Amino acid sequence: MRPERGYVLCDPCLGRLFGSGNILHCEKRGRIIRGKGRDRPSECHICKGLCPSLEESCGPSLWGAAAYEFETFVVGVRLKSSMAERDDEVRSRCRLAGAAALRAYVAAMLSSYLGAMTGASVDHGAPELSITADLRDNTAEFHPRPVVLSGRYTKSVRGLSQKGAPCGGCAGEGCTSCGMLGVDTGGSVEGVISGHACGTYSARRASFTWVGGEDQESLVGGRGRPFVAQLVQPHRRGLVHPATVRLGGVVLHGLREVRSMPQLPVRFRSKVRLAVSAKGEISDDTLGRLADLGGSTLAVYEGRRRVERAIHSASHSRTGPGSFELHMEVDGGVPFKRFVSGETVFPNLSDLLGTVCSCGGFDFEEITVERGGHPGARGGTRRRPRKGPARPAGGRDRPRKT
Ligand SMILES: [Zn+2]
Ligand SMILES: [Zn+2]
Repeated sequence: MRPERGYVLCDPCLGRLFGSGNILHCEKRGRIIRGKGRDRPSECHICKGLCPSLEESCGPSLWGAAAYEFETFVVGVRLKSSMAERDDEVRSRCRLAGAAALRAYVAAMLSSYLGAMTGASVDHGAPELSITADLRDNTAEFHPRPVVLSGRYTKSVRGLSQKGAPCGGCAGEGCTSCGMLGVDTGGSVEGVISGHACGTYSARRASFTWVGGEDQESLVGGRGRPFVAQLVQPHRRGLVHPATVRLGGVVLHGLREVRSMPQLPVRFRSKVRLAVSAKGEISDDTLGRLADLGGSTLAVYEGRRRVERAIHSASHSRTGPGSFELHMEVDGGVPFKRFVSGETVFPNLSDLLGTVCSCGGFDFEEITVERGGHPGARGGTRRRPRKGPARPAGGRDRPRKT
């Protein structure tokens, strides 16, 4: 009796179940097992003819991958459950527990076609593109790995909040007026960077991790505030960005792709300039009390939680009879307006000067991430250099693979 025990099987299924060796060569092995002189059946008990015509029937569904840039991929397969059941049944009846499953064969063959078509290779760990081929209707879904972008921004205009409000047209769901980003792209740093990054990468949307934040009216100078943006559903990747990107009042510096999101919380220090005005005049003697601030520690109360923040240095310059500028280098996370007015921060300027003070605004002159805490530093840049010359950002209509 033949090993397939009366089951009518196509060459690929025969070779897959009763041969051994490279899964891609099942069809050839099946022909050998069948032997000369025996006709190939027109039907297959398990796959109903799927395997011999796999490339013609399922290949086209993979062409959608051309819309994405990737060097590594993985293919998953959805089969009709009846087909998978027949495969299990034959493997069980013929005691073939070790033979490759139909699903594994189909995934390997589709991976082989896609690899030949694009030059990309299979990676089961963290592929740049995950594809699910649905053989029930010959369609495929494409899930590109998010791109993580690290950079810094400076802000030279007032009236721009850091975090974006959800788009008024769609409440964050994505609509045509917000370019499907779900965020109001004009009125915030987040919106401006989202618009640029998602446009450059043809990504669906961006989610941000900021190293501290500032007021809507604050400027951010120096080398800028670090941030990391995760771009979801990117069509492009592996881009090299110019050292600076000007987006109106927001300028991006040192934009680059990194492996992973930063470990939180990120420790950092800020150099700030506070504009302070008191209710009345302040004498030079009174103002001199500010000299003690450098090297002191602030107790900051957030509800019932108490945290300490160091003031590393402080200096001041008078700007009027009852007003002055305070320059400080402090740990990240000091609520500056409350530090001036005196609510829930101790010591504070109102207590120190013995008069009610208010903060007219604060600007950031520098933000420094403390050692070991740079966003995206963990894992560094890509492990593996890309083949070929670095591709510049922009000109994204250029197809990368054909
Ligand atoms: Zn078959
Ligand atoms: Zn919208």
